[in-house]
Amino acid sequence: MQYQSTRNKSMRFSSSQVIKQGLAQDGGLFVPVSQPSVTLAELADMSKVSYNERAYRILSKFLTDFTEPELRECINNAYTKEKFETEAVAPVYKLNEDTFILELWHGPTCAFKDMALQILPHLLTQSAKKTGENKEIVILVATSGDTGKAALEGFKDVAGTRIMVFYPENGVSEIQKLQMITQEGNNVHVAAVAGNFDDAQNGVKAIFTDTAYKALLESNNLMLSSANSINWGRLVPQIVYYFSAYADMLNSKEIELGQAINIVVPTGNFGNILAAYYAYKMGLPVHKLVCASNENNVLTEFIKTGVYDRNRKFFTTISPSMDILISSNLERLLFDVSGEDDELITKLMKNLAENGRYEIPSEMKEKISGLFWAGSCDDASTMKTIKDTYEAYGYVIDTHTAVGKKIYDDYKDATGDTHKTIVASTASPFKFNQSVIIALEGHQVVAGKDEFTLLSMLSEKSGMKTPKSLADLQTKPVIYDMSCKKEQMQQVVSDFLKIE
Ligand SMILES: *Cc1c(COP(=O)(O)O)cnc(C)c1O
Repeated sequence: MQYQSTRNKSMRFSSSQVIKQGLAQDGGLFVPVSQPSVTLAELADMSKVSYNERAYRILSKFLTDFTEPELRECINNAYTKEKFETEAVAPVYKLNEDTFILELWHGPTCAFKDMALQILPHLLTQSAKKTGENKEIVILVATSGDTGKAALEGFKDVAGTRIMVFYPENGVSEIQKLQMITQEGNNVHVAAVAGNFDDAQNGVKAIFTDTAYKALLESNNLMLSSANSINWGRLVPQIVYYFSAYADMLNSKEIELGQAINIVVPTGNFGNILAAYYAYKMGLPVHKLVCASNENNVLTEFIKTGVYDRNRKFFTTISPSMDILISSNLERLLFDVSGEDDELITKLMKNLAENGRYEIPSEMKEKISGLFWAGSCDDASTMKTIKDTYEAYGYVIDTHTAVGKKIYDDYKDATGDTHKTIVASTASPFKFNQSVIIALEGHQVVAGKDEFTLLSMLSEKSGMKTPKSLADLQTKPVIYDMSCKKEQMQQVVSDFLKIE
């Protein structure tokens, strides 16, 4: 399988090149030149094998320059019972006759980003080797929460890599901060930045674009890389769990082979739902893909009108991992539904960069609305959905998953559709415990309580065990209590890497 850029189709790249490079030179995103397919017979076979074997069968169709032992080693390093606390890795929970919750949060950081970030470091080091790269890879991340911790857990102690994460001093939740400042591993470093997420992100961008600094790193046999969600190595592992969920539903006789399902995805950067789209293109029987947003409803409007317009108010919500105005991975969908029109995509993305807005031609718009349905909701409906779901089924969902559930309910009301439906559950309720407990029991209950009291309250209420990685935070020593100014970030990196 070869790859091309969404902004220039004339060049060809191997999978290890695109994983190592991340973003194309022309600013475009890498996509495969053709879609591999999965037949119904292969799908039926998948129901008989483990998650890791399913992962091998999907990944091997895309990462064709990896040998079988290389790919299996990457997969087996990533998806272990020890890290995911369940044999199934991504189990499906039946909520009612037509709603199935795909639990993507059993990994070490309790959010779905683990599904990709547990395997990416292995794919990346393997890709570096295959492309003759012998420098050590230094991952730099600015995080507003979930990504930083998931990247730290993924890269910790992976030979040939080091990782440094910056988070805004007052811009992450208490649990998220504790998760990062107690991070273990011999190749990791964490620092707070005085300022907000944009300050941290701009600081990291400045380091990436400093050519003198790049030369200094190179003279020390080091190279910078990012664990960004537009890397193909993060996207391709996400295709696996949609096939896996379908295989599980075949096993439990919820569906018959070939029966179409809907997939609902709480969406931010459009990575997770794009993986569902690729699964559909490969042959997974899908009726509709439902894109669920919080009050930051730029995608809802786009799917309904064909106009993408980021010139709007930014809302800080209780589903923070979906607080996004530019959904980068959408570019890959646009490329595909335009019939791979790289010139058009270049023009649209130029409009987005210059005016914050673009409009797609009506044929593209129709293709998208034929398959996708979109909706958005505010925090109050998210909270109500958590409570209603608990009262109806005794099952507790987090704030992101609740947005998905609410939009699915709206979809059913609007269309009367009865296809069985998978709702992607992107975070454990324990990770957003405060909002979840407020939704279930009201504000008064949380007043004055610390994080660990809240975790045990939630465990009692839900009948679910507190994930070990969160419970353990109470006794883990703080390792990284340093904070720096934006101007000092480069020095912090140099100190960590011991270069000058
Ligand atoms: C990152 C994230 C999302 C959004 O996923 P995208 O792939 O960016 O659309 C949703 N929920 C949670 C909990 C996340 O961490």
